[in-house]
Amino acid sequence: MFLTIKGLAKSFGDNKVLKGIDVEVEKGQVLSIIGPSGSGKTTLLRCINALEQPDKGIITFDDGFEINFENKVSKQSIQSLRRKSGMVFQSYNLFPHKTALENVTEGPIIVQRRNSKEVKDIAEGLLEKVGLKDKMNLYPHQLSGGQQQRVGIARALAMEPELMLFDEPTSALDPELIGEVLNVMRDLVKEEWTMVFVTHEIQFAADVSDKVIFMDGGYIVEQGTPKEVLKAPKEVRTQQFLQRVL
Ligand code: ADP
Repeated sequence: MFLTIKGLAKSFGDNKVLKGIDVEVEKGQVLSIIGPSGSGKTTLLRCINALEQPDKGIITFDDGFEINFENKVSKQSIQSLRRKSGMVFQSYNLFPHKTALENVTEGPIIVQRRNSKEVKDIAEGLLEKVGLKDKMNLYPHQLSGGQQQRVGIARALAMEPELMLFDEPTSALDPELIGEVLNVMRDLVKEEWTMVFVTHEIQFAADVSDKVIFMDGGYIVEQGTPKEVLKAPKEVRTQQFLQRVL
């Protein structure tokens, strides 16, 4: 198993947000996480990317990397965990004073200290891949939301992660701009990237996912193939959620 998460728990003060989450992701698999607002989806993704530190639980990768959050965790292992995944945020989080190209090259050059000429070539290739070659010298405010999010995807890819995480990447977009971002994500599915999507796009999740997880109240209520979870959900909470959103 590429990624195994066992017993993940996270509270903010008295608010128990994740109450013991078990997730497995195979290499090349697409996992979609759906569920009502406040159910803990974003927090789970942020724990995988080490943007939040869980209180409990074990995260293991198939290369032998493991963190048990019940033990004292070193800064170095948090950094190693962070390096494994690239995150695409709901609100893009681009540097406003840097061009599209500079947004993509910043992490590899500054954080990873890679050769700047090589990184620039790779970044240009990635911006071409997301359809923005002609926009690479523009600043975020000169780009539409869909274009900014595609820069966000190129930026995450430039860090050469093993796993891509998407936190509701289209939820801030006007409806007519959602398709261009979903198309880029579809291309990554074709390239067999290992990916976890937190998404409200149920039809997209049905089309591209190998596995769907339905979360509610900090628990995984149900998981299985898209057919099982989205077409024939067993749990009442899943049925009610799907009735509301479909
Ligand atoms: P979802 O992505 O399913 O909408 P979230 O993971 O964003 O759910 O949030 C789950 C709960 O955790 C919410 O009650 C939210 O207010 C709380 N929460 C998330 N992040 C923080 C934080 N940094 N500090 C305090 N509470 C938080």
